[in-house]
Amino acid sequence: MSRLVEFLKRAALEEGFDLCGIAPTAPLQELEGFPAWIAAGFHGEMDYMARTNRQGKLRRAALANIAPWARSAVVCATSYHTDTPYSIEVNDPNHAWVSRYAFLERDYHEILLPRLRKLEGRLYHRLAGGGAAVPRTWCYVDTGPIVERVLAQHSGIGWTGKNACILNQRLGSWMFLGVMLTSLELAPDAVAADRCGSCTLCLDACPTQSFLAPRVLDARRCISYLTIEQKSPVAPELREQVGRHLYGCDICQDVCPWNRKVPFSQTAAFSARTEIVNPPMHSISDMNEEEYWRAFRRTPVRSIKFEGFLRNAALAMGNSGDPAYLPRLRELAQHENPSVREHARWAVAKLETLGNGYCP
Ligand code: SF4
Ligand code: SF4
Repeated sequence: MSRLVEFLKRAALEEGFDLCGIAPTAPLQELEGFPAWIAAGFHGEMDYMARTNRQGKLRRAALANIAPWARSAVVCATSYHTDTPYSIEVNDPNHAWVSRYAFLERDYHEILLPRLRKLEGRLYHRLAGGGAAVPRTWCYVDTGPIVERVLAQHSGIGWTGKNACILNQRLGSWMFLGVMLTSLELAPDAVAADRCGSCTLCLDACPTQSFLAPRVLDARRCISYLTIEQKSPVAPELREQVGRHLYGCDICQDVCPWNRKVPFSQTAAFSARTEIVNPPMHSISDMNEEEYWRAFRRTPVRSIKFEGFLRNAALAMGNSGDPAYLPRLRELAQHENPSVREHARWAVAKLETLGNGYCP
C-alpha cells in the first residue's frame, strides 16, 4: 500500500468512518446493465437516475460520463446499526414502521459530508506540505450521479448482496456510504468477494416481489420507492402490501443473516430516536403539520413533506385493520391534497369492508 493510501485510510478512520477503500474509475462490469435497466423503466419516477450528460450518455452509467478527470474513488462507510427491534419481528398492527436509516438522531448527510470534507482537507494539506500539486476532488454523499455501491464493491468495502445492498462481513449492510473522487492515481483495493452463497432469504421475504433476479430490482414495486420517491398514487394492487410502512422498508436487510451479529454504530448521532422507532399508530394518525416537522426534525423523513406523510399514514391506518381510525380517515378523505384524499378513501373503503364482519 502506498504511503498516501495508508495516510488516507488512517485519516478516514480518525474522522469517524468505519471503513475506507480505494476503487478504480475505469468502466465497471456491474454498470453495464444500467442503461437497459433505465430503458425498461424500472427506475419509475426517479427521473434523476436517467439524466444524461451533454453527449447524451447516462450520467450514472460510468464515472467517465460525469468526471472524466477522476482516476480513483476513495470510498468510506459508516455503520448506523442501533439496538432496536427488527421490522420483521414487529408484527403489531398498532405500530407503523420508519426505516432504520431514517429514525436516527441526525440525517446522515449532515454527518458524512463534513467527514469527507475534512478528509479532503487533510489530503490537500499533506500534498501541499510536501510541495505536490493539489489534486482535483469531488465529495458525494448520496447526492451525485454515481452508483456508490458498485464503487464500494470495487473498493473492497463489501459485496453487493442479492438484496442489492452493500454487505460487509463485520458490519453487515447497515452502512452509509460516502465517496471522494480524485484525480490522483491510487492503487485500488481488491474487489470484495460475494458471500451470499445459496441464500435467498431476502428475495423470498420481499412483500412486493420487487426482485426480478438477484441484485436486480424493479424499483416501481419496492416499498421504499413507493413511500419515499413515488409522487403519483400507489397502484391499488400494491397498497395492501405497503402495510404499515410510513417511510421506507428494511425487510430484505432485516432477514439477512449477515446483519444478525453486527456491532452497534460508534457514531453518537446515529443513535435511535426512540419516539419514531416503530411509532404507535395513534401517535401518527392525529399528527398535525407542526408536530410532523418537529417529530422528524433532522431526519430524511422530511423529504416527503407533510402531504407525503399523510398519504403514507392513510395507507398504514387502512392496513392496520382497526376501524378506530375511520373518523380520522374520513377527515383525510376530504383533504385538499388529491393524493391524500385518494389514499384515505381507499383506506376508508378497506376498513368499512372489514367492518361489515366486525364484531366489537
Ligand atoms: S426494501 Fe422492502 S419492498 Fe423493497 S426490495 Fe427490500 S423487502 Fe422488497
Ligand atoms: S439475505 Fe442472503 S442472499 Fe440476501 S443479501 Fe443476505 S446473505 Fe445475501
